[in-house]
Amino acid sequence: MADTALMPIAGHIDPVTVARDITPREDGRVDLIGLPKRRIAELFEEAGLDAKQAKLRAKQVFHWLYHRGVTEFDAMTDIAKTMRPWLAQRFVIGRPEVIEAQQSDDGTRKWLLRTADGHDFEMVFIPDADRGTLCVSSQVGCTLNCRFCHTGTMRLVRNLTPGEIVGQVMLARDALGEWPKGRMDVPDEEDVTEYSADGRLLTNIVMMGMGEPLYNFDNVRDALRLVMDGDGLALSKRRITLSTSGVVPMMARCGEEIGTNLAVSLHATNKDVRDEIVPLNKKYGIEELLAACAAYPGASNARRITFEYVMLKDKNDSDADARELVRLIKQYKLPAKVNLIPFNPWPGAPYECSTPERIRRFSEIVFEAGISAPVRTPRGRDIDAACGQLKTAAEKKSRAELDRLAAEKQAALG
Ligand code: SAH
Ligand code: SF4
Repeated sequence: MADTALMPIAGHIDPVTVARDITPREDGRVDLIGLPKRRIAELFEEAGLDAKQAKLRAKQVFHWLYHRGVTEFDAMTDIAKTMRPWLAQRFVIGRPEVIEAQQSDDGTRKWLLRTADGHDFEMVFIPDADRGTLCVSSQVGCTLNCRFCHTGTMRLVRNLTPGEIVGQVMLARDALGEWPKGRMDVPDEEDVTEYSADGRLLTNIVMMGMGEPLYNFDNVRDALRLVMDGDGLALSKRRITLSTSGVVPMMARCGEEIGTNLAVSLHATNKDVRDEIVPLNKKYGIEELLAACAAYPGASNARRITFEYVMLKDKNDSDADARELVRLIKQYKLPAKVNLIPFNPWPGAPYECSTPERIRRFSEIVFEAGISAPVRTPRGRDIDAACGQLKTAAEKKSRAELDRLAAEKQAALG
């Protein structure tokens, strides 16, 4: 097991500082997954190659790792046979460990994954007729406590590293059998192996799994750069969406340094309700959030910001709420679409889902104002894979601790 200390919990406001980018293993070998090409070259040089060799080898290895998905140095056929054991003695090609894989009746798949230091998190794949979306986690747990979200009832265990984040996408490609084929050691065949979305299962990525991605900004950025790199996983930034609950101070950097599509978990149109259901609102209010959206680099009519709105019965679902939502979007002149998410229940949740008629009426009001507002079909509810249902055993441990304490107290009283 790697010696990874738990991340300090940075409170509710400031971005959590970044874990180191290299996770040394007990045997001293370094995991290359999650590292940019430049860093791989540095490591090769530190291990004894001259600068030119290191750069060339890093380029080859990078391509094999991220573009071809190999998990053994021995499979890197354009690297000299004698060089491959040299690599294997010093480096590893890691993947998060798969603990459990489940499949929903509707085809949604959920994987329970484990980090090298033993923390569990989840990833979900949602196949549709015209696309396949991978829902990726950025943290184990979440420091924010949105009241309708199951992940929010977990404590934050730690940030995921770039390797653990990009590793989810790589595992999905492993599971779906979607690495480009062909022989890399044959020149000119490169074009054939070019990755395109055509006919593929995994076409889109959403940073909507466990955690708040903008509280783990550097690692999410570094991982997504590997996903977007043309010589890496080569997925277009237009096919990636990052969802935030509204970490205003990080939004401009998100647009500048990551540049993916943005989704914002708005969920309410006035302070009282948003304070209650998305407590981060007490720090960054609706006006501030919408102003940051208006200034989001790269937003345009062609690339709209998605406002996510969870439908909670008698809480945020009235006609007046729908009209206020329209008014706010127009006031800030936002290139926006709205995604209405029927609330997904979980044990002990303090809310109910709005009725289908209510959701339909809400959607109509927003549509009539010229703003697209489709209702998202819940997916994977039967395996707790739907939005907001993700949660791993991290909290159950503290629950077990609580049970033990309660039992001790009981014994003392008896
Ligand atoms: N932390 C980020 C991304 C993860 S949550 C964020 O909050 O945006 C992805 C989406 O699912 C968010 O819009 C979130 O508010 C929503 N969600 C959370 N719990 C839900 C639930 N029980 N039912 C429906 N949607 C939920
Ligand atoms: Fe965290 Fe997002 Fe859940 Fe809120 S909705 S608790 S920010 S994961």
